[in-house]
Amino acid sequence: MANDTAVGALAGAVMTEKGLSYKGFIMEPIIDKCEGCDRAVDVEAAKYCPSYANPARKWAHGICNFATHVKAEKTKTGEVKINPLKASKRAARGR
Ligand code: SF4
Repeated sequence: MANDTAVGALAGAVMTEKGLSYKGFIMEPIIDKCEGCDRAVDVEAAKYCPSYANPARKWAHGICNFATHVKAEKTKTGEVKINPLKASKRAARGR
């Protein structure tokens, strides 16, 4: 019998030999850039994203547009920045 291991947004997901299976997809755990995102769901020892099966691939193309913890902001030159507050603090310290 299948063992349901997830709740909430990933209800019905099942841990298999290949990994967490949800709606026919094998889910990859979230990556460090996802830490702090409200969408991430705890399943056993790891966290998974109900929006993307492969969070690393999502972030490989820039900021995740579903992220709740960071916002993509464009500078005047069109450059995309993450967490502009942190960047300004870093600049103020001369790093
Ligand atoms: S929505 Fe984006 S940032 Fe949030 S957990 Fe999923 S992949 Fe990570």
